[in-house]
Amino acid sequence: MSQVPAIVDALVVGAGIAGLQAALDLADQGYQVAVVERQPTIGGAMIGLSKVFPTLDCASCITTPKMAAVAHHANITVLTYCELQSVQREGEVFQAEVLQKPRFVDEELCIGCRLCEYACDPELPDQYQGGYSALRAIYIPFGNAIPQLALIDQEHCILCGKCVKACPTDAIDFEQKPVTLTFEARTVIVTTGWKLTPIDAKPQYRATEIANVISPLQMERLLAPHGPYGRVLRPADGKVPDSIAYVQCAGSRDATLGVPYCSRVCCMYAIKQAMLLSGAVPLADITIYYMDIRAFGKGYEEFYQTAQAMGVQFIKGKVARITEGDNRDVTLRVERIDELGQVEERHHDLVVLSLGMLPGDNPSRLVPLEIAEDGFVATPRAKEAPCDTGVEGIFVAGTATGPKDIVDTIVEAGGAAAEASRYLRSQGHSAVTAESAVTAGSEAP
Ligand SMILES: Cc1cc2nc3c(=O)[nH]c(=O)nc-3n(C[C@H](O)[C@H](O)[C@H](O)COP(=O)(O)OP(=O)(O)OC[C@H]3O[C@@H](n4cnc5c(N)ncnc54)[C@H](O)[C@@H]3O)c2cc1C
Repeated sequence: MSQVPAIVDALVVGAGIAGLQAALDLADQGYQVAVVERQPTIGGAMIGLSKVFPTLDCASCITTPKMAAVAHHANITVLTYCELQSVQREGEVFQAEVLQKPRFVDEELCIGCRLCEYACDPELPDQYQGGYSALRAIYIPFGNAIPQLALIDQEHCILCGKCVKACPTDAIDFEQKPVTLTFEARTVIVTTGWKLTPIDAKPQYRATEIANVISPLQMERLLAPHGPYGRVLRPADGKVPDSIAYVQCAGSRDATLGVPYCSRVCCMYAIKQAMLLSGAVPLADITIYYMDIRAFGKGYEEFYQTAQAMGVQFIKGKVARITEGDNRDVTLRVERIDELGQVEERHHDLVVLSLGMLPGDNPSRLVPLEIAEDGFVATPRAKEAPCDTGVEGIFVAGTATGPKDIVDTIVEAGGAAAEASRYLRSQGHSAVTAESAVTAGSEAP
């Protein structure tokens, strides 16, 4: 069972890059912070990216040190594999209830040796690797996951007991139950992030039927040094792709999908992936079908121009339909909206749908705050205080308020920490008192 102080200065909900940054900024000032993450590891989406635009820095080289800093910070309590149940104001504080899900592995005893994993037979798709490789029914999510603790996928475990025999510390505990943790927080920062628009949102793209039509996160993994194949191969047959296409706005700027807004990062991640593919598969032709390119940040326009200079082809056109051709190739029906203005059938080996961003969760079911019309957390005073939810003591940062890139996410996380710290000082709290560091926790009914 995790231990959490009876009262913390700040509760951070979500441990993506926004949550990590906000937690570090507050903890470095001496505030006591609890970070609640529903996944078994911290790091959020960024830890799964290959490299990041516009610098092409390795994503995990930036994320892993922040994950480690949070995990080892004396002022931060990290609660992973935990579902926030509710946050309610009671007087001057918020009462938080968190459900810690059972890993069926004792956190105190597990040493992360993975011997259980090697002994386990059942295989399940490894979602971290885009579903292209397998995990065992007992697993550590990935190599640089934090914490390095195994957990059992109850649905796929066949109770063969091989992990029990393999574990050198007797950490496997099939009797583990969910545990409810309750504690008080003086302020709350919501960083519940984003998820991709569903790959089958546009039925005319037939993405669930055509194996060589993939999501951009799957391409991130194909490009990652520790990806599923170690190099870029197309998933249907393992062929090295000679021709790769991106379909822009495949999940955004379409009111019929309920996503009328621009997701802001798709042009840039497509250009980034195209540049990385030019290095990974130097002989491949790469084409980006787009309506208009939105390269809005510092250095982004130059990044776009570099991609053009590298030979990435940009075609202004709408993709109306996708079908599977011979040899599992993919055919796009493109309505060009450039000077040619014609309809064309174009063939590619592999197609990436540039999907958009939806809210990662609806935190209003847990935390008393408002949701805007687009489904993201409302920030009623966005021009003066973009991290203010309009509810006293509750702040928000990162993609929980709307699509944005990592730079803007980190800036906003710093802003939310500054707002939270100002609020705490206004309430007369500059640091946590030692007496409040008492363990809370009881078994869930
Ligand atoms: C394909 C792709 C490539 C990209 N490449 C780049 C790039 O190269 N450069 C760049 O600048 N940006 C890039 N981005 C954007 C970047 O991924 C985001 O800016 C960044 O991940 C936002 O971080 P976040 O912390 O707001 O959200 P997230 O990373 O989504 O973190 C949110 C966390 O909250 C957790 N959570 C959600 N709900 C709850 C709950 N109720 N309780 C507890 N925990 C919860 C989630 O599990 C998650 O860990 C890319 C995006 C995509 C789709």
